[in-house]
Amino acid sequence: MILDGQKVASSIYENLKKELKWLASKPKLAVILIGDNPASESYVKIKEETAKAIGIDFELFKFSQDIDEADIISRIEILNNDQEVSGILVQLPLPTHFDEYRITQSISPKKDVDGLTALNLGKMFMGKNSLYPATAMAIIEILDYYEINPTGRLVTIVGKSNLVGKPTANILLNLDATVIICHEKTEDLAFLCKRADILISAAGQPNLITADMIKDGSVIIDVGVNKVGNRLVGDVDFKEAKKRAAAVTPVPGGVGPVTVVSLMKNVIQAYKEA
Ligand code: NAP
Repeated sequence: MILDGQKVASSIYENLKKELKWLASKPKLAVILIGDNPASESYVKIKEETAKAIGIDFELFKFSQDIDEADIISRIEILNNDQEVSGILVQLPLPTHFDEYRITQSISPKKDVDGLTALNLGKMFMGKNSLYPATAMAIIEILDYYEINPTGRLVTIVGKSNLVGKPTANILLNLDATVIICHEKTEDLAFLCKRADILISAAGQPNLITADMIKDGSVIIDVGVNKVGNRLVGDVDFKEAKKRAAAVTPVPGGVGPVTVVSLMKNVIQAYKEA
């Protein structure tokens, strides 16, 4: 079975549109984009289009990569205090000379719709309600939509980034899955993947997950987005995964579209909890 991210995203999208009709005013998402990374620009464009289509106001603050870090933090502080702004997102990755930690931590946790502040991550760690990173939410939304219950199952996650791997592992652990997290120094990745009832790959390496690493009848969530020639591919050998796994997400059309609407869900949550 193909786990159709567009279908999951459409269902969330329709619910958010309905929810917005009942709000007293429009939530607003402010996005900070630094430098001219074409991939980041296109992700921001998709966020803008989705926000506007749902009925969320959107404002972009675009800076050249020569800007001082202090000026970015001042802008974030203005947005933190702006009653009109419900959510603030700094598009990552930043050009390498910026301190990503200092910048993301300057966002008010109440407006941190990417779920990257220490407070939100700490609450997530303890299983408390907070703003969770959108890609991790998207993975859970896909499992939920297709009624795949991770409780008690062995989940292997390839990738330990703060944005994807670690938060996904935490949420799944809080749902009583048994979680293995792998990274570049993991010994015998194939063995640990092959054991998984649910295999989540968020490494950003095309063709990392090959047929021999997939357990028959498992569920495969491919988070990776890699450009190979003119094509976008995931981390997983999709053709082989389709043959062996019970269910698999495609790239594109899997986790990506669900991540964008999950971000919008966070913007509405931040608005409601302001
Ligand atoms: P990242 O910060 O570069 O992290 C990649 C992780 O994968 C690291 O923990 C790294 O291990 C691990 N890794 C890389 N190569 C590996 C290998 N050969 N074997 C085992 N582990 C390996 O990337 P990210 O931000 O988490 O994103 C991961 C991928 O997901 C990228 O392709 C990104 O474009 C995609 N993504 C997709 C969405 C979506 O909505 N679809 C959202 C966000 C990200 P070390 O820590 O040891 O280096």
